[in-house]
Amino acid sequence: MSGLLRLPDRIHRELIAAAKASPDEEVCGLLAGTGDRADQRLPVENRLHRFDAFDMAAEGLIDAMRRIREEGWTLLAIYHSHPGTPPWPSETDLARNQYPEALHLIIGREEGDWRIRAFRLEEGVEEVELEVAPDSARN
Ligand SMILES: [Zn+2]
Repeated sequence: MSGLLRLPDRIHRELIAAAKASPDEEVCGLLAGTGDRADQRLPVENRLHRFDAFDMAAEGLIDAMRRIREEGWTLLAIYHSHPGTPPWPSETDLARNQYPEALHLIIGREEGDWRIRAFRLEEGVEEVELEVAPDSARN
């Protein structure tokens, strides 16, 4: 995986809409696609139902992983929202990081606006470039 993730505008809008629609609970799920372009969003239930932590429900996660395999996509990132805080990994995120090899996308509030940032959390916190691409673009 390269140090860059391309997100179609449609997925970018969907992620922010999902975060906005869930002020009391972090939303979470997987992003998949081809190459470095994440054009598939697979929401998974946050089994914790908390506004400050998430844990993907096992059943939903298994279904999402199966779908990715069946469609021949690549798992590109795990996403979750921060309903009221900035899109930076929280202490809880770092302590509970069950997928250190994955890219993590966080949707959060920054200076009043919704913003998405991407990170690699393998060794500390490393921000990864996120490119929002027009819906019709190809790799
Ligand atoms: Zn978090």
